[in-house]
Amino acid sequence: MRNYNFSAGPSMLPEEVLKQVRDELLDYEGTGISVMEMSHRSKPYEAINAEAESLLRELMNIPDNYDVIFVQGGASTQFEAIPLNISVNQKADYVVTGNFSKKAFSEAKKYGDMVKAASSEDKNFTYIPVLKRDMFRKDADYVHICYNNTIFGTRYDSVPDTGDIPLVADLSSCILSQDFDVSKFGVIYAGAQKNVGPAGVTIVIVRKDLQDKANPLCPTMLKWSTQIKEHSLYNTPPAFSTYVSMLVFRYLKKIGGVKAIQKINEEKAKMLYDFIDSSKYYSNSVVPEYRSLMNVPFVTPSPESDAEFVAGAAKEGLLTLKGHRLVGGMRASIYNAMPVEGIKKLIDYMKKFESSHK
Ligand SMILES: *Cc1c(COP(=O)(O)O)cnc(C)c1O
Repeated sequence: MRNYNFSAGPSMLPEEVLKQVRDELLDYEGTGISVMEMSHRSKPYEAINAEAESLLRELMNIPDNYDVIFVQGGASTQFEAIPLNISVNQKADYVVTGNFSKKAFSEAKKYGDMVKAASSEDKNFTYIPVLKRDMFRKDADYVHICYNNTIFGTRYDSVPDTGDIPLVADLSSCILSQDFDVSKFGVIYAGAQKNVGPAGVTIVIVRKDLQDKANPLCPTMLKWSTQIKEHSLYNTPPAFSTYVSMLVFRYLKKIGGVKAIQKINEEKAKMLYDFIDSSKYYSNSVVPEYRSLMNVPFVTPSPESDAEFVAGAAKEGLLTLKGHRLVGGMRASIYNAMPVEGIKKLIDYMKKFESSHK
């Protein structure tokens, strides 16, 4: 029996995909070797790489004026890659809605005149500030947002309008969980280990007009155009992670694509929030319209019972429910691969725990 893993990342993968990986592990499609052992210049790997890109394009409906690359370094490396790649006036505006956007902002400040255009830190990141076009500097190279805030459990209720200023978005914990209109963004980036696949590969989607604006000092390996020109094969890619991600894309397409998984995600999140709201024992402090579909923080009345909750849950096969140290309490990360049954089992456990602790 597999456990339900509520980790914020790395997180669950679809069981069907894991089984296929197992079946193909020693001998990938008659090659007699594993994808892990394969040259990235070989025909079978080139096919995996190409299929990963075309499936992602199809799933996200990515327009032709965008390129897609699979790179290493995690989303965190993009925090510095972004100001080095889009460097015209060396000015950019950041919206700080949590820990990751804060890190992105402080990294970018090394490379220019970066300004915090809005923040929700005044209320410990429990909401998303309302953004208007005139809050951004007209000559900013881009506006940076983090759409879903993994630690604090918030997300934007819509894509902000930044007018002519390119919008750069960290979608690490929500990519493929809901339908996005890619044409509203200049750049989208996301580490794989939340909604896509194993850690090690990072997706970057870049509009073509933003590919020739790099700072001359931008390192070759951070420059998007380096990998764009080589279809992500400039150097040795994170081949195994890309392969598993490709299988996840195939699986997602088979079950009906992003719209289908979005519907399931909305049902899952509603079940959990409705239960928390109906309970006098558990609470979630996020402003309801900004509640995340993917990460649900909650607390019991005391830190002692929180710790007991987490330990007891693990014994029942409900793993990694401890909240981030900046928030405390619990956090249930319910990404695409978390089945509805996992949510039901969590709610049953919450009911049982509550009745024995009131
Ligand atoms: C996990 C996460 C990151 C950090 O990703 P790494 O791949 O570990 O660098 C950045 N942003 C968001 C929103 C995340 O959830």
